[in-house]
Amino acid sequence: MVEDPEIVADLALRSATERDPTRTSDANYERAVKELLDDPVVTRWPCRGRGCNELVDAPRSAVESMDVFNRQLERRRQPLIRTSEVLYCQRCKARLQQEADAARRAKDERLAPVVKLLIQSSQPEREHALIRQLREWKHPDVDGLVQALVARRSRSGGGGSI
Ligand SMILES: [Zn+2]
Repeated sequence: MVEDPEIVADLALRSATERDPTRTSDANYERAVKELLDDPVVTRWPCRGRGCNELVDAPRSAVESMDVFNRQLERRRQPLIRTSEVLYCQRCKARLQQEADAARRAKDERLAPVVKLLIQSSQPEREHALIRQLREWKHPDVDGLVQALVARRSRSGGGGSI
Protein backbone atom coordinates (compact mmCIF):
# COMPACT_ATOMS: atom_id res chain seq x y z
CA MET A 1 0.00 0.00 0.00
CA VAL A 2 1.31 3.42 -0.92
CA GLU A 3 1.60 5.62 2.18
CA ASP A 4 3.39 8.75 1.00
CA PRO A 5 0.62 11.40 0.97
CA GLU A 6 2.15 13.01 -2.06
CA ILE A 7 2.04 9.80 -4.05
CA VAL A 8 -1.50 9.09 -2.83
CA ALA A 9 -2.59 12.55 -3.97
CA ASP A 10 -0.85 12.07 -7.28
CA LEU A 11 -2.55 8.72 -7.85
CA ALA A 12 -5.92 10.18 -6.87
CA LEU A 13 -5.44 13.05 -9.27
CA ARG A 14 -4.37 10.80 -12.09
CA SER A 15 -7.19 8.37 -11.57
CA ALA A 16 -9.71 11.21 -11.37
CA THR A 17 -8.39 12.83 -14.49
CA GLU A 18 -8.03 9.67 -16.51
CA ARG A 19 -11.73 8.97 -16.36
CA ASP A 20 -13.17 9.48 -19.76
CA PRO A 21 -16.57 11.17 -19.46
CA THR A 22 -17.33 10.60 -23.15
CA ARG A 23 -17.35 6.79 -22.74
CA THR A 24 -20.82 5.71 -23.83
CA SER A 25 -21.11 1.95 -24.16
CA ASP A 26 -24.76 0.92 -23.88
CA ALA A 27 -24.49 -0.33 -20.31
CA ASN A 28 -22.77 2.83 -19.14
CA TYR A 29 -24.69 5.34 -21.18
CA GLU A 30 -26.78 6.87 -18.40
CA ARG A 31 -23.89 7.00 -15.98
CA ALA A 32 -21.70 8.58 -18.65
CA VAL A 33 -24.30 11.23 -19.40
CA LYS A 34 -24.68 11.98 -15.68
CA GLU A 35 -20.91 12.21 -15.28
CA LEU A 36 -20.71 14.52 -18.22
CA LEU A 37 -23.39 16.78 -16.77
CA ASP A 38 -21.89 16.69 -13.27
CA ASP A 39 -18.36 17.06 -14.52
CA PRO A 40 -18.34 18.89 -17.82
CA VAL A 41 -15.32 19.29 -20.04
CA VAL A 42 -13.95 22.75 -19.39
CA THR A 43 -10.69 22.78 -21.29
CA ARG A 44 -8.33 20.65 -23.31
CA TRP A 45 -4.86 19.57 -22.22
CA PRO A 46 -2.04 18.07 -24.26
CA CYS A 47 -1.74 14.28 -24.03
CA ARG A 48 0.96 13.18 -21.59
CA GLY A 49 2.15 10.45 -23.98
CA ARG A 50 5.74 10.99 -25.02
CA GLY A 51 5.94 12.76 -28.37
CA CYS A 52 2.13 13.00 -28.62
CA ASN A 53 0.61 16.43 -28.95
CA GLU A 54 -3.04 15.41 -29.17
CA LEU A 55 -5.39 17.60 -27.13
CA VAL A 56 -7.54 15.73 -24.59
CA ASP A 57 -10.82 16.87 -23.03
CA ALA A 58 -10.21 17.84 -19.39
CA PRO A 59 -13.24 17.70 -17.04
CA ARG A 60 -13.81 20.35 -14.39
CA SER A 61 -12.93 17.89 -11.60
CA ALA A 62 -9.49 17.38 -13.14
CA VAL A 63 -8.82 21.07 -13.35
CA GLU A 64 -9.94 21.58 -9.75
CA SER A 65 -7.92 18.62 -8.46
CA MET A 66 -4.85 19.85 -10.24
CA ASP A 67 -5.24 23.34 -8.79
CA VAL A 68 -5.52 21.94 -5.26
CA PHE A 69 -2.58 19.64 -5.73
CA ASN A 70 -0.39 22.29 -7.31
CA ARG A 71 -1.07 24.66 -4.41
CA GLN A 72 0.19 21.92 -2.06
CA LEU A 73 3.28 21.43 -4.20
CA GLU A 74 3.87 25.16 -4.33
CA ARG A 75 3.78 25.38 -0.53
CA ARG A 76 6.40 22.63 -0.39
CA ARG A 77 8.42 24.41 -3.06
CA GLN A 78 8.23 21.37 -5.31
CA PRO A 79 7.85 21.39 -9.08
CA LEU A 80 4.25 21.81 -10.18
CA ILE A 81 2.40 19.29 -12.29
CA ARG A 82 1.87 20.66 -15.77
CA THR A 83 -1.28 20.16 -17.80
CA SER A 84 0.74 18.05 -20.24
CA GLU A 85 1.51 15.52 -17.48
CA VAL A 86 -2.00 14.43 -16.55
CA LEU A 87 -4.17 12.99 -19.34
CA TYR A 88 -3.62 10.42 -22.07
CA CYS A 89 -5.43 10.49 -25.40
CA GLN A 90 -7.33 7.36 -26.51
CA ARG A 91 -4.54 6.29 -28.86
CA CYS A 92 -1.84 6.54 -26.18
CA LYS A 93 -4.11 4.80 -23.65
CA ALA A 94 -4.56 1.91 -26.09
CA ARG A 95 -0.82 1.77 -26.80
CA LEU A 96 0.04 1.79 -23.08
CA GLN A 97 -2.51 -0.97 -22.48
CA GLN A 98 -0.90 -3.07 -25.22
CA GLU A 99 2.55 -2.46 -23.77
CA ALA A 100 1.35 -3.39 -20.28
CA ASP A 101 -0.24 -6.58 -21.64
CA ALA A 102 2.96 -7.50 -23.49
CA ALA A 103 5.08 -6.79 -20.40
CA ARG A 104 2.75 -8.96 -18.29
CA ARG A 105 2.95 -11.80 -20.80
CA ALA A 106 6.76 -11.54 -20.90
CA LYS A 107 6.87 -11.58 -17.10
CA ASP A 108 4.57 -14.61 -16.95
CA GLU A 109 6.77 -16.41 -19.47
CA ARG A 110 9.85 -15.66 -17.39
CA LEU A 111 8.24 -16.70 -14.11
CA ALA A 112 6.55 -19.90 -15.32
CA PRO A 113 9.68 -22.09 -15.55
CA VAL A 114 10.80 -20.96 -12.07
CA VAL A 115 7.37 -21.79 -10.63
CA LYS A 116 7.50 -25.17 -12.35
CA LEU A 117 10.94 -25.92 -10.87
CA LEU A 118 9.68 -24.90 -7.44
CA ILE A 119 6.66 -27.19 -7.72
CA GLN A 120 8.87 -30.10 -8.75
CA SER A 121 11.69 -29.42 -6.30
CA SER A 122 12.36 -31.46 -3.18
CA GLN A 123 15.58 -29.76 -2.08
CA PRO A 124 15.14 -27.03 0.54
CA GLU A 125 18.16 -24.99 -0.56
CA ARG A 126 17.07 -25.06 -4.16
CA GLU A 127 13.56 -24.07 -3.11
CA HIS A 128 14.82 -21.06 -1.18
CA ALA A 129 16.86 -19.94 -4.18
CA LEU A 130 13.82 -20.30 -6.45
CA ILE A 131 11.61 -18.37 -4.02
CA ARG A 132 14.24 -15.61 -3.86
CA GLN A 133 14.28 -15.53 -7.67
CA LEU A 134 10.49 -15.23 -7.81
CA ARG A 135 10.56 -12.32 -5.34
CA GLU A 136 13.34 -10.65 -7.28
CA TRP A 137 11.35 -10.97 -10.51
CA LYS A 138 8.27 -9.58 -8.78
CA HIS A 139 5.99 -12.62 -8.83
CA PRO A 140 2.64 -11.13 -7.72
CA ASP A 141 1.98 -13.57 -4.86
CA VAL A 142 5.02 -15.57 -3.72
CA ASP A 143 3.57 -16.13 -0.23
CA GLY A 144 0.32 -17.46 -1.66
CA LEU A 145 2.22 -19.77 -3.99
CA VAL A 146 4.35 -21.11 -1.13
CA GLN A 147 1.26 -21.64 1.06
CA ALA A 148 -0.46 -23.51 -1.76
CA LEU A 149 2.58 -25.72 -2.25
CA VAL A 150 2.90 -26.43 1.47
CA ALA A 151 -0.81 -27.29 1.65
CA ARG A 152 -0.53 -29.53 -1.39
CA ARG A 153 2.50 -31.34 -0.01
CA SER A 154 0.93 -31.89 3.38
CA ARG A 155 -2.21 -33.26 1.70
CA SER A 156 -0.13 -35.67 -0.37
CA GLY A 157 1.81 -36.62 2.75
CA GLY A 158 5.09 -35.85 1.10
CA GLY A 159 6.38 -33.50 3.78
CA GLY A 160 8.54 -30.93 2.08
CA SER A 161 10.23 -28.06 3.74
CA ILE A 162 9.66 -24.68 2.07
ZN1 LIG B 1 -1.48 10.71 -26.91
